[in-house]
Amino acid sequence: MDARVIPIREAAACDAPPAVSQERGQREVFCGLTAIIWMHRRIQDAFFLVVGSRTCAHLIQSAAGVMIFAEPRFGTAIIDDRDLAGLADANDEIDRVVNRLLERRPDIRLLFLVGSCPSEVIKLDLSRAAQRLNTRHAPAVRVVDFSGSGIETTFTQGEDSCLAALAPQLPALPPTAPPELLVVGTLADVVEDQFRRLFEAMGTGPVRFFPPRRAREMPAIGPNTRMLLAQPFLADTARALESRGVKRLPAPFPIGVEGTTDWLRAGARACGVADERIDAVLQPARERATRALAALRPTLEGRSVFFFPDSQLELPLARFLSREMGMDLIEVGTPYLHRAHLAAELERLPAHTRIVEGQDVERQLDRCLAARPDLTVCGLGLANPLEARGLSTKWSIELVFSPIQGFEQAADLAGLFVRPLERARRLAA
Ligand code: SF4
Repeated sequence: MDARVIPIREAAACDAPPAVSQERGQREVFCGLTAIIWMHRRIQDAFFLVVGSRTCAHLIQSAAGVMIFAEPRFGTAIIDDRDLAGLADANDEIDRVVNRLLERRPDIRLLFLVGSCPSEVIKLDLSRAAQRLNTRHAPAVRVVDFSGSGIETTFTQGEDSCLAALAPQLPALPPTAPPELLVVGTLADVVEDQFRRLFEAMGTGPVRFFPPRRAREMPAIGPNTRMLLAQPFLADTARALESRGVKRLPAPFPIGVEGTTDWLRAGARACGVADERIDAVLQPARERATRALAALRPTLEGRSVFFFPDSQLELPLARFLSREMGMDLIEVGTPYLHRAHLAAELERLPAHTRIVEGQDVERQLDRCLAARPDLTVCGLGLANPLEARGLSTKWSIELVFSPIQGFEQAADLAGLFVRPLERARRLAA
């Protein structure tokens, strides 16, 4: 282990968690429709049908980039402006689009109707539309609705909204079923495979993943299910699972060597695995990852970083950059901060770090420009103006699209922060 990584207990004992301030004002974030871009890759027999406007269609097509050349697993039913009298037509239109789609694509097993924010869509009751369509297409195809509207969701909340809609429909395990581990939150397949291998080697027993790769593999849950959140933006999903008796295991998120170790340890301990066995299984992967990070650390160590609120991944990323890469955190903004889910992250951040929940973009830009950090992590809309003012930026959306969790990905994650600094250094030279 890198000697410069602060041992967890030592940091928790001597530092109080940093204070969190709230900010309310204009926000600069994508809407929840963006989550379709990574979720459609995950559930391979699902289709996401956005019920929206041309703007929504443009957003997901341009965010998805090259995917539109493949047989896509998402699309938009465009509902043009219409008054209340036209709602029956709109419902007929949704039915027509869905029926045509399912006839043409028999591979679809799960169809999401995704709500958006144009007023003509808000007037529609998509949960009734889903019920109506289920009477015709279930059980071959299940229809589920959720909202990706920009009024209700920021971009990673789209995943939360989707999984929270699925949670009540998961099959039930009886109270007598043996304990099982459930990993909650979309992970890249390669990351899931690595975690599965490590859990198996530690002897945890069965581990399920939600969402699964295929609709028919939805995990069953019950009062003996223990969940490990793999993503920090799943407040509604966790609540929906807890209401079905599932217990959450407190842990940091599996980012960096420290976060991954403690996350896996929390899961294994809940299954009764002894610490010696956990350590023995994790040690080789921890050492490999620590060595890979050591090669990148000199570029990041001592450099300052400023996070604008965007993906809700900000706290775990800041903890990783501070504790494993030696970066100086100026400000860490996050759209929402779930105190319980992020408790293990907050207590690992330096007490002096400014943590801001919510956003007032003008004031935050002023603070960022005054601080002139070496690196700014922000949304796409802010990156170009900040680059034009001479700051190096990293798009936070890239951190959501890339596989960054786990030991084998730790150095790739650090590399994502090294790249803009290296580019700035070369340009300056
Ligand atoms: Fe824009 Fe709303 Fe559609 Fe998102 S859901 S693309 S914010 S119109």
